[in-house]
Amino acid sequence: MAPKDIRSLMAGRITKVATTPSTTTKASLSTSTETKVLKDIASGSSFASRWKIIGTHLIHNLPSKSYIIKNFKEEIKIAAFDLDGTLIDTKSGRKFAISSHDWKWWTRSTKDSSSQILTKLNKLIEEKYLIVIFTNQGGVVANPSNKSYNNFIERVNLIISTIKSSIKEDNTEILVFASPKKPAKETNTKSHELMRKPNTGMWKELLSYLGNEAKIDVTNSFYVGDAAGRAKDFSDSDLKFAQNIGITNFKTPEEFF
Ligand SMILES: [Mg+2]
Repeated sequence: MAPKDIRSLMAGRITKVATTPSTTTKASLSTSTETKVLKDIASGSSFASRWKIIGTHLIHNLPSKSYIIKNFKEEIKIAAFDLDGTLIDTKSGRKFAISSHDWKWWTRSTKDSSSQILTKLNKLIEEKYLIVIFTNQGGVVANPSNKSYNNFIERVNLIISTIKSSIKEDNTEILVFASPKKPAKETNTKSHELMRKPNTGMWKELLSYLGNEAKIDVTNSFYVGDAAGRAKDFSDSDLKFAQNIGITNFKTPEEFF
């Protein structure tokens, strides 16, 4: 299998793969995480094969509803996170990721070599939080043939696969909502605007996915994001998003991790 096909698989564009990868495939994989992503895809029910695009204004990755019903008997405590600048930073130091591999776990400063992210996420999973990522992706066009889309989902596949590899509970699922860029030809600006933080479209999508049978424990839920309106921040869209969805427990990554 050519490396190009591996990229396609990891981006979720091809859903079927031989269960025993060829020697060439193995040799071209650079990390054990990539091997795991391929294995996940081969199993047919993995995170990487669940991506969905809604119109041009939403990309999401959600487990089957039965996962929620089976694992969350009481009101659900949501541990919500922004992605870029909160859970991860670019490895290149650039503002936007230059490839799917251009990411590392967020650290307090560039001098920090170790990150608290995986330890914290593991603790939250043990404490029965449902982990949900809400991310504005203004550079990503929601189209499977677009490079920006494939880079994005391939990057998130690697991130989630790394989180899942670190978790003792193997069946843990993480939910992702992303609000992409409005394509130039698209005339409906409203749906994109509503989906983009600080607006609440992505949260409403979560509520509609959970439906009537699953309720959120808002008091014990929280949201962590780096756009908090501080002097160094590019915006206050994360802080405002938390306020708009009624979550009073907002933390910056510096406060939380
Ligand atoms: Mg951010």
